[in-house]
Amino acid sequence: MRTEEKIICNCCKKVIRDQNFPFGTEYLHVEKEWGYFSNKDGERQEFDLCESCYDTLIRKFQIPVASQEIIELL
Ligand SMILES: [Zn+2]
Repeated sequence: MRTEEKIICNCCKKVIRDQNFPFGTEYLHVEKEWGYFSNKDGERQEFDLCESCYDTLIRKFQIPVASQEIIELL
């Protein structure tokens, strides 16, 4: 979740970024506008997860996340 000063992990409440660490830890931000064929028609939801909670979440997946190494071109 986001306030004006902070990004907080919705799952564990850890502060992911604040004014002291504006470029700190990596995290996952999800925004979703649910449409007509959902039970949340017209609802917009968003959340943030720290890397640790993201790892815990994807460990539950039946199919692993697609992953590839990024080669930095400097
Ligand atoms: Zn977390």
